[in-house]
Amino acid sequence: MKFEVITKDNSCNARTGRLITSHGGISTPVFMPVATRGTIRALTFRDIEEIGFEIILSNTYHLYIRPGIDILEKAGGLHKFMNYDKPLLTDSGGFQVFSLSDLCKVHEYGVEFKSHLDGSSHLFTPEKVLDIQKVIGSDIMMVLDQCTNYPVTREEAKNAVDRTVNWAGLSYRYWKDSFDTDRQALFAIVQGSVYPDLREECASRLLQHDFSGYAIGGLSVGEPKELYREMTGITLQHIPDNKPKYMMGVGSPAEILYAVMYGVDMFDCVMPTRIARNGTLYTSLGRINIKSAANSDDFSPLDPNCGCYVCRNFSRAYLRHIFRMGEISSLIYNSYHNLFFMKEFLNEIRGSIEAGTFLQVYKKWTDIYK
Ligand SMILES: [Zn+2]
Repeated sequence: MKFEVITKDNSCNARTGRLITSHGGISTPVFMPVATRGTIRALTFRDIEEIGFEIILSNTYHLYIRPGIDILEKAGGLHKFMNYDKPLLTDSGGFQVFSLSDLCKVHEYGVEFKSHLDGSSHLFTPEKVLDIQKVIGSDIMMVLDQCTNYPVTREEAKNAVDRTVNWAGLSYRYWKDSFDTDRQALFAIVQGSVYPDLREECASRLLQHDFSGYAIGGLSVGEPKELYREMTGITLQHIPDNKPKYMMGVGSPAEILYAVMYGVDMFDCVMPTRIARNGTLYTSLGRINIKSAANSDDFSPLDPNCGCYVCRNFSRAYLRHIFRMGEISSLIYNSYHNLFFMKEFLNEIRGSIEAGTFLQVYKKWTDIYK
């Protein structure tokens, strides 16, 4: 994998860049839709292609549980299994192990957990999650980290930082020894909860190794917006500019703008598709709830400024009707529109950085999305 910064804004840290992976190039800042189990819920890959996404994200934990590594190995990797030939990033599964499994026990050497599905026992070590991602065939792999909830005590956060750094060191050595490091890149994850000194310590210790990129983890887990923003700024200061910077699990327009201003290049989040399935849609005029009675006889498009298939063809009244009827097409149309919105939103951000007008675009959108 290669990364280069193309344009840098003069008045803030926003930048555009180009990531080159073995399955193709990605213009940054980029939003990565989430195909947790190897598919984007309610959409097809034909839709994803049509919208124009250059990279998607999938999830190591879920793929490991089902269909399982044997099937993925027989299929020749996830790209072949799901017939998708563009870049793929997988998270390490750490977040899911800590948040989903009923019982998880952290050891120095890894984390023991019970499957959320059938209660069977499993062990993830730094090496094991890389082996799984090798079978998946991810272009960008993530290290195993210990994600903390919010709030946590300083002591717990410090322990999680120590473990995250130790595991990252083991991952780095294993990756260098046993992988084609050009074909499969490896990102480290900065933890430290909402403690500025721990964020700084975690970043500087991870930088002792030359990872392909650095992610900000452990944020957007329930902390107040101000703390999220403060930690974003602090963490990013410590990541060198020649590395891609990835903000994990953040997908609201306002928080993306803020993070881009501080230099973030990559985002992923299930939120745009999750809220779409509940009838909440992003538009150029703000968030709307398609269920609202005000839409019952509104025959105007969902978003007059959106060029997507849904906005070109269907009225708010119709979209409200099919939502209320529980039609599958409602999930499809709503998800399609919200992902199209995200793609266009990031295109506009990138264009504005290139044109030197990012702060104007920042202001325009943060007036709409607080
Ligand atoms: Zn649309």
